[in-house]
Amino acid sequence: MKWNEFSEWGRKVADWTQDYHLTVGDRPVRAMTEPGQVLNALPQTPPEDGEGMEAIFRDFEDIVMPGITHWQHPRFFAYFTSNAAAPSVLAEFLASAIAPQCMLWQTSPAATEMETRMMDWLRQALDLPDQFQGVIQDSASSATLAAVLTMREKALNWQGNSQGLFGQKALRIYCSSEVHTSIDRAIWVAGIGQQNLIRIPIKGDWRGMDPDALEAAIQAALAAGHQPAGVILCVGGTGVGATDPVDKVLDVAEKHGLYTHVDAAWAGSAMICPEYRHFWPGVERADSIVFNPHKWLGVQFDCSAHFLKNPDDLVQTLAISPEYLKTHGHDGIINYSEWSVPLGRRFRALKIWFLIRTYGVEGLRQRLRNHINWSNQLHEKLKLEPDFEITSVPMWSLWSFRYTPDSAADLDDLNLRLVNAINDDGRIYLTQTRLDGDLVIRFQAGQFETTETDVMMAFDVITEIARSLT
Ligand SMILES: *Cc1c(COP(=O)(O)O)cnc(C)c1O
Repeated sequence: MKWNEFSEWGRKVADWTQDYHLTVGDRPVRAMTEPGQVLNALPQTPPEDGEGMEAIFRDFEDIVMPGITHWQHPRFFAYFTSNAAAPSVLAEFLASAIAPQCMLWQTSPAATEMETRMMDWLRQALDLPDQFQGVIQDSASSATLAAVLTMREKALNWQGNSQGLFGQKALRIYCSSEVHTSIDRAIWVAGIGQQNLIRIPIKGDWRGMDPDALEAAIQAALAAGHQPAGVILCVGGTGVGATDPVDKVLDVAEKHGLYTHVDAAWAGSAMICPEYRHFWPGVERADSIVFNPHKWLGVQFDCSAHFLKNPDDLVQTLAISPEYLKTHGHDGIINYSEWSVPLGRRFRALKIWFLIRTYGVEGLRQRLRNHINWSNQLHEKLKLEPDFEITSVPMWSLWSFRYTPDSAADLDDLNLRLVNAINDDGRIYLTQTRLDGDLVIRFQAGQFETTETDVMMAFDVITEIARSLT
């Protein structure tokens, strides 16, 4: 393809994109393909000769699209959302057109300086103190890994990278029993070892870490000659939105001088609204905080906002500067590749800029408030149905339920059949989780274009399909 042929197809793709988003609500939310269907539709060997875009695009529609689960569907109520608001898609198009490598300041000064400014806009939107500086990571998993590596290096007096962990005291890192699997993986990859990730029991409706149990676990580690290195806090856990008592956990961590990282990958977006900040009291005392603008805020995937109270700790952990990466003669510049595990970096800040300028922070707040209010209304409505049980309280826009008709013998089996039947139906999409051993069904609202009607339709779909099963 020659660049002077690009705009013809660029226009077609833009038209297709607009049409897709305007009509995606007519499609079943979850892909209806069988395993192997797409694989078998793709030729086993690559073409020797090039093909025209006409044929490629036709196959994109015929082969790829049926195998897509529509994350931009307004009735996507499964997992957490992964939004792609229109202006952020345009920005992503432009970023892919320029395709800059943003590892160093000099490899694209605009990308670096835009990133600095956008992370500060987000910091202000969350009302974090200006001491915090931010970096865009590809995912919350990477931010958490970077934070765990920092905990490790600080605890080992910066010797871990050079000497390895062999012969060192066992490092201990603490979290609740409700954290995301990305925490386990960060612990594995950092060489800390699963057995040194200590899960503190939870208590209360928010399913948060018990600070007294944390204190006891740290005391036990010290008595056993282990070395406590850090605490990972959970604000809005993936299962049912578990949230630690942030101020009380930070009191314990501070007392022992432990590095702290807050995983608010999903719920952090809601903190642009002052009325939800009571969910993380004292968060400004944490060392590291991550949230994903690509989940709920509307920024096209991927874009993870990582805030650091003292970036020097992170840079001392991750910076490596061979001669060919040095940018001599520039003072006061930031090379963001020193703040993250990967060297190469995409130009992600552009889509934050496009999004925030299009809607304003207030426009984004209004969307999130709507999601939370509508989800809570649905919760109130289902609560009145005697054959349904609400299994966890609404945390922002997330809550869970199960179908509990008197006639049912095996509730786990019935609810698994229910969630599968709902997803085969296609009007809405839900996922299940385990809560204290029971299989329960999650509900969250957060898709950028979702409406009150979409959320309320879930009531009809859930009750109608449930009652058809018994
Ligand atoms: C989604 C999520 C993650 C993982 O986020 P990635 O950006 O996909 O790595 C981690 N923690 C929580 C609480 C999440 O909801």
